[in-house]
Amino acid sequence: MDRIRYILSWILWPALMTICMVGTAYGFAAGYPIITFNICYMFLIVSLFFLEKWMPHEREWLKPDGQNFASIMHTLSSKGSVQLLFMFSGVIGLAEFITPASEPGFGIWPREWPMWLQVMMGVTLAEFGLYWVHRLGHTTAFMWRFHAVHHSVTKLWFLNTGRFHFIDSLASIIIGLMILLPLGAPMEVVQWLTVITAFIGMLTHCNVEMRFGPLNYIFNTPSLHRWHHSRELFEGNRNYCENVMIWDHVFGTFYHAEYRPPADIGMSDYMPEKFWYQLIWPFLSVKKKQELAPDYEYKPFGYEDRAESEAKRLAKLEAMRGAAE
Ligand SMILES: [Zn+2]
Ligand SMILES: [Zn+2]
Repeated sequence: MDRIRYILSWILWPALMTICMVGTAYGFAAGYPIITFNICYMFLIVSLFFLEKWMPHEREWLKPDGQNFASIMHTLSSKGSVQLLFMFSGVIGLAEFITPASEPGFGIWPREWPMWLQVMMGVTLAEFGLYWVHRLGHTTAFMWRFHAVHHSVTKLWFLNTGRFHFIDSLASIIIGLMILLPLGAPMEVVQWLTVITAFIGMLTHCNVEMRFGPLNYIFNTPSLHRWHHSRELFEGNRNYCENVMIWDHVFGTFYHAEYRPPADIGMSDYMPEKFWYQLIWPFLSVKKKQELAPDYEYKPFGYEDRAESEAKRLAKLEAMRGAAE
């Protein structure tokens, strides 16, 4: 049985990704992209649900953390607010921007290229925006208020995938579109970007024991994202890319070490337990937070000290080597 698990650990990520992508591509070709995408997405969720129980990466993360309702509600409110943005895009003037931008002849986008190549370019270019929204979410006090909701969990599993404050989700979507649409990217490229982000995002948060080898240097794998959820800033303020790791390599924030990522994940900041409190938390003053939560403790936003981080990283490597000898 262990041998089957070992073999599966190598093939699961590429196999699941391939099945979902081929299925959705078939849907696009047949003219039913939305329904086939949803079938593939459900297939991925159900597969991960059972795999997490059968071959978990961390057994500790199988225990309940009391955050299921909050995570589902954040997922729904994030998806809902993105839908609303598109529904009311006419009212706020966004439609006048989106419609001509996605029509042929607009911008410098090479529409004559094969679709797979256009999608690869779209994913890479949009990633630049996603990278910076995410990085600023960790390095500026204002944006961290919203992004902290995602990092307040103490375990990783598929249900955390969509757990974002809706302001955080809107910022990523808007910046991603602001890169692709002015260049004249067709709607099909934008749809594929959404599909790929959904599949890769679901996989990055799963608690399934998987191995990746060289894939870790190209895609955002669960193994890379576990560093990103570390409490230690030298591990956590790394791997900001959502789908492909290119901009982490370019801007020097890629992190992948030879020791095991921490099981004790989360953040040092306070986050209330209840969904509605989490939703309004970023908008509240310190005084209001103290009133609402007696155990709340004010902590100034901490910047990462790179020298200190490097020393911690070396100490960790040293300790690991010492233990191995
Ligand atoms: Zn983050
Ligand atoms: Zn995450």
